[in-house]
Amino acid sequence: MGSTFINGRIFTGNPQSPWAESLSVDEGVITSLGGEPRPGDTIIDARGRLILPSFGDGHAHPLFGGYEFLGPVLKGKATLAELLASVKEFADANPDLPWIVGGSYESWMAPGGNFDARWLDDVVPDRPVVLRATDYHTVWCNTAALNAAGITTETPDPELGWIVRRPDGSPMGTLREWDAVDLVMEKAPDRSLAEKLHALELASAEFARTGITWVQDAWVDPGMAEAYIASAEQGKLSIRYNLGLRAEPRRWREQLEWFVATRASVAGIDHLTCNTIKFFADGVIEGHTASVREGYTDDPHNHGMPCWDWDELAACVTAIDALGFQPHIHAIGDEGLNESLNAIEAAQKTNGSQTNARPVITHVQMLDPRDIPRFAALGIVANFEPLWACNDSLQSEMTAPHIGHEREMWQYPMKSILDSGAPISMGSDWPVTDQNPLACMEVAITRLEPGHPNGVVWNPSERLTVHEAVVAYTDGCAFQAFGETTWGTLEVGKAADIILVSANIFDIAPTEIHSVFVDATWCDGLQIFSRNGAV
Ligand SMILES: [Zn+2]
Repeated sequence: MGSTFINGRIFTGNPQSPWAESLSVDEGVITSLGGEPRPGDTIIDARGRLILPSFGDGHAHPLFGGYEFLGPVLKGKATLAELLASVKEFADANPDLPWIVGGSYESWMAPGGNFDARWLDDVVPDRPVVLRATDYHTVWCNTAALNAAGITTETPDPELGWIVRRPDGSPMGTLREWDAVDLVMEKAPDRSLAEKLHALELASAEFARTGITWVQDAWVDPGMAEAYIASAEQGKLSIRYNLGLRAEPRRWREQLEWFVATRASVAGIDHLTCNTIKFFADGVIEGHTASVREGYTDDPHNHGMPCWDWDELAACVTAIDALGFQPHIHAIGDEGLNESLNAIEAAQKTNGSQTNARPVITHVQMLDPRDIPRFAALGIVANFEPLWACNDSLQSEMTAPHIGHEREMWQYPMKSILDSGAPISMGSDWPVTDQNPLACMEVAITRLEPGHPNGVVWNPSERLTVHEAVVAYTDGCAFQAFGETTWGTLEVGKAADIILVSANIFDIAPTEIHSVFVDATWCDGLQIFSRNGAV
């Protein structure tokens, strides 16, 4: 038996006929638009509300987000004291846990983002504690964790990363970037499969709550794909996921076998693909680790910390492209972006364009305007996390002072890239920041912090229209996912991946969009979320 949505303001996303008033579904597939309900249909009365294709999230970290729900809960703590109280409460409630691993805390709570091990020792002296910062490139450890990792005054900084030290050279408790973070994370016990499954279930529910039914997992390490497979086997993979296996700069050649085997292991599983290889080209501007051509304004000899030797990046992108994988490259600084473009260009020159891998560059933060046309020329999907594209305190305190005014205005050129003819898609980087597409898209449209309608519009020429933002969140993500024949628009023959929205975001003031709710979410015609239990 089918169902029909009636009395809706249905935005189909199909440019030929963008609006409809009714929509019928049979066995998870849209079978008609604008028709009458059939006898026996379940009627879903939209009562005049907006209906959209459900959203995608082109860059997120579902398991890490799910782990945050498992505790200790650090998000939303306003002060260091509250943060520490939450860690203590969790430790006291879980006396048998050998390690406390959690996330994520806001770096601005301590000067320079440098947190002291002793602060954690005061609340948990008896076992290792390691907490991730919201950037997921930094951790804060207590003394027991530093000891477990063998980090002492004598430990040299590793190649890719550093140990923040006190004036006397002793490790302070904050570790930055890959190799330093790994010193301690390698010693922490891996999560059990049961914990991973629980985390994934919580993450899927959180995505459904905000209208997201496809997610690019942009950081999959060994042991993580297994959680998705197990979740699917238990019938709990309620939304679609594509896995991005993380390539490691020094051992990617050994990883090729794992890439291919993991892709094969998910073949045929509903809602699950593994088409993508994730690269970190560089770090972040806030930490002076994004790779920049001209040096940081407040540290002119520092050009950041590229994660890859650039020839190796090109060689790896070429190798995985030849295997039919889609590269998904984190690139933040202008040099990191330029070299990511070079790597994709090199792969296309070597392999020919027949692989059509729809390469993705994600974040696209500080892009030299001269590189904008290369996205369209190389067929690259520019994936943006629009919540960051405003003059919030992260931008004004931690980012703009590092790069100066001219380069500040190079950031997140969404409109320029869209107008150049390149495909764009949207994402969140959750749990780095909020994943709610309605809040994030408001920033893409206004370039204002949500809830601050009278602020100064930041970099206004890069604002998108509501229509452009919605399309980037739906069809744009579907294109990134190779899913555009299945979902992303509401058309006959496509999956009933649908959301019901509490207000018509095309009609209201754009500065109000963040306060609009997703009232209900369907994936493949199955309702997977309802706000307050009602349609
Ligand atoms: Zn990320």
